[in-house]
Amino acid sequence: MIKDISNLQVKLQALLQTQQTLDNQGKIADYIPALAKVSANHIGVCVATIDGKIAGAGDHQVAFSIQSISKVFGLVMAMNRIGEDLWQRVNMEPSGQPFNSIIQLEWEKGIPRNPVINAGALLIADVLASHFSASKLAFLSFMRKLSGDESVYIDNNVYQSELSHGNRNAAMAYLMKSFGNIEAEIPDVLSQYFTQCSIAMSCEQLAKSLLFLANKGIDPRTKNVICSPKDAHRVNAILSTSGMYDQSGEFAFSIGLPAKSGVGGGIVAIVPNYGVICTWSPLLNKFGNSVVGTNLVASLAEKLGLSIYH
Ligand code: GLU
Repeated sequence: MIKDISNLQVKLQALLQTQQTLDNQGKIADYIPALAKVSANHIGVCVATIDGKIAGAGDHQVAFSIQSISKVFGLVMAMNRIGEDLWQRVNMEPSGQPFNSIIQLEWEKGIPRNPVINAGALLIADVLASHFSASKLAFLSFMRKLSGDESVYIDNNVYQSELSHGNRNAAMAYLMKSFGNIEAEIPDVLSQYFTQCSIAMSCEQLAKSLLFLANKGIDPRTKNVICSPKDAHRVNAILSTSGMYDQSGEFAFSIGLPAKSGVGGGIVAIVPNYGVICTWSPLLNKFGNSVVGTNLVASLAEKLGLSIYH
């Protein structure tokens, strides 16, 4: 691995230029109306390294809706809270289905395939809602602590928009409850889940927040233990096999980094023992992954020799 970060800032700026000249490919997520209002032209990239360097370009300090990227943080909180019991209630296999598919959940008796598809994240939201007295606040505090930034906030417009267009997520939660795999009341589970998805953060804040996953569970800036090395390994493994929706296989095949995307257009990619890449550009491909973001992560991974499979 080269990990050459000399002139990283310059490299990022040059990379953004190449992407800005591309035709606008992809489509903004409009099934959550508040997301459809975001300008398609945003483009940002940030790299944070475990030895304390930060390089960013474009809109890397503009907050956007983190959406499914929140699933990574929810998973860590749930693992910390209930330990091995979690794995009785959710599996760790790729789903081979779209992120919001309900069909598999019926066959598999209300046990989600993994924690980063919607069904799995709803299950995690149930764990948090059932095991924390003020679970939404606990989640927001966790995000603020990890980013080292008290300005991280819940975007109430996005929250309300999700709540009023959340029938499919509600259906999954009720189905899991019918199998006895959800403890809390469904409105509380949905409220927890949509709160998590509605958090607004920038590429820079997200990249800093996930450094612990590149550093065996320890936040390199504060030296706080965020999770055990074993759990950091497990989260990275799940992100490698399932983090990029139903394109995770191709992402591993061509790029080779644990990563998670969200329908707000963000992508985070973990480079173990090195750092975190975060990109944001709202236009999504048919799998729900940012078109430009995927290109940016691919270019950086190749230029810097970051694949974990080398
Ligand atoms: N809040 C979104 C949903 O539940 C998250 C989807 C995503 O980013 O994958 O549909």
